[in-house]
Amino acid sequence: MMAPMTVIYDPTKPERNRPAPLPDAEASARLAALADQARADMALIGHNHDWVPAPADGAYNVLVLGAGQAGLGSAFALSRHRIGAVKVIEGGPAHEVGCWTRYARMHTLRSPKNMKGIELDIPSLHTERWFEAKYGREAWDATDLVPREDWNEYLTWYRDVTGADVDFNTTITAVHKPDASGYFTVVATRDGERVEYRARRVIFSLGLKGGGGTFLPPLVENLPEHLRFHTEDDIDFDSLAGKRVLVLGGGASGFDNASTALEAGAATVEMHVRRSDIPRQNSLRWMEFPGMQEHFYDLTDEQKWEFSLFNGGLPQPPTQASVWRAFCHGNFSMLTDTRWADATVRVTDGVEEVVVTDDKGVEHVGDVVISATGYAVDLGLRPELEEFLDDIALWSDEFEPAVGHGMGLCPYLGDGFQFQAKDAASDEAREYIPRLVHLSTGARASHGVAGNQLSGIFAGLTRVAQRIATDITKENWPTFFREFRAFEHIEIAEAGPHREGEAWYPDGPRY
Ligand SMILES: Cc1cc2nc3c(=O)[nH]c(=O)nc-3n(C[C@H](O)[C@H](O)[C@H](O)COP(=O)(O)OP(=O)(O)OC[C@H]3O[C@@H](n4cnc5c(N)ncnc54)[C@H](O)[C@@H]3O)c2cc1C
Repeated sequence: MMAPMTVIYDPTKPERNRPAPLPDAEASARLAALADQARADMALIGHNHDWVPAPADGAYNVLVLGAGQAGLGSAFALSRHRIGAVKVIEGGPAHEVGCWTRYARMHTLRSPKNMKGIELDIPSLHTERWFEAKYGREAWDATDLVPREDWNEYLTWYRDVTGADVDFNTTITAVHKPDASGYFTVVATRDGERVEYRARRVIFSLGLKGGGGTFLPPLVENLPEHLRFHTEDDIDFDSLAGKRVLVLGGGASGFDNASTALEAGAATVEMHVRRSDIPRQNSLRWMEFPGMQEHFYDLTDEQKWEFSLFNGGLPQPPTQASVWRAFCHGNFSMLTDTRWADATVRVTDGVEEVVVTDDKGVEHVGDVVISATGYAVDLGLRPELEEFLDDIALWSDEFEPAVGHGMGLCPYLGDGFQFQAKDAASDEAREYIPRLVHLSTGARASHGVAGNQLSGIFAGLTRVAQRIATDITKENWPTFFREFRAFEHIEIAEAGPHREGEAWYPDGPRY
């Protein structure tokens, strides 16, 4: 009998954190067979013909902005409703899907491996099947959390198998109000050239920044740009070799960036945490049940608000492995109960250093700061929403207790993550605002855990596609009804007895 296989998550040896693949030829053949199976499964339980009227010349029914897991999942969810002419636009290159090989610097996902996800009820599209095809069943059984690079690779496979139509290296710069025929114009740049797309609907799935932007506390933002980073920045970690790094924040990204800096040869990494301890409890794990994932939206505003306030105060913990990964370096230290009161630059003999003074008056000196301070929800920071901002209803517009609260800046979304128009909006805006869909961080006040993260992504994608399919049906009802009136499908060729050899007739034993 073979010895049981173990996949070792050794925090000091990142290269050992991916299971050994099966021999290339075998893995490729298994993945190709799985892709065939997935396509067959999709066809088997898919709708059998198109139904959405073709959009005007060169336009799309839906443009999906961002080809991370949320954008790709949206495109797939729409295809399950047989909604064609869907284009996905992505700023990055084809080999990187979303954040996973960019600023997500952990070894593994935090989400449990056995979650319902972007496969949307097609088992052969699930990560588990992909992983099994690539590494073998034992590797999956022995794997605790899915390695991050495998997740990226799985997403590229998923993108291919689900047939997403993606334009890569295309960065969206603006979205304009619809023209007289109801089509929005999306403006982007590719290779320095301006490109334009037109579509009836737009899904904004631009990642964690999509609800606003990265958040830097003002005293960090005021430091010169070359001395401070946000964890989402494209940091050249090799340039941190020999440097003293100050990390602000003890969440997942704080630990991942601290470890990446240490592995790149940083002289020291000092992490500063405001609380008396790092977060340990992960409340997301409670939220992963159907009532919460699929039906949070149906609660009252009071219930949603109460939940949002309570949940908003619960910090997300890092994984145990990422804490170990940092602490196994002797030159890593973590200071709790440390609030930054000031941050300045001191220049000695032409050499710059950052001097941070904490609220107890203690000075901490480093060469560079990495701010692991998360994201802000503020649609006003999104250039692509500029023309719509005045008309989009926020929680603070619709629910009195939300006025003046940070969470009140979250958009007050409809059941399919669509923006809603403010009461004061024009009739025109009231028609087109709900054709814009926000599948990003601002959705949490309206949809809780459903949305772009794995904890509830299947529910978010399902709602988005369901709403769009409903709205397309309503919008096109006059056309559908006209088609129905003119419809001819003659099934009775003979108003008489069946003649031998003419056509199929049920004469077998079961009739
Ligand atoms: C350390 C860390 C650990 C995490 N662990 C987990 C986890 O275990 N499970 C989980 O579900 N989530 C986890 N997350 C959160 C994860 O980032 C999101 O769940 C996931 O990225 C959401 O997918 P998305 O498609 O919305 O965003 P993204 O993956 O960020 O994709 C958005 C895409 O939009 C593109 N884009 C953005 N702006 C533009 C533009 N102007 N023009 C064109 N394209 C653009 C980007 O290039 C990107 O490809 C983690 C995040 C971090 C930082």
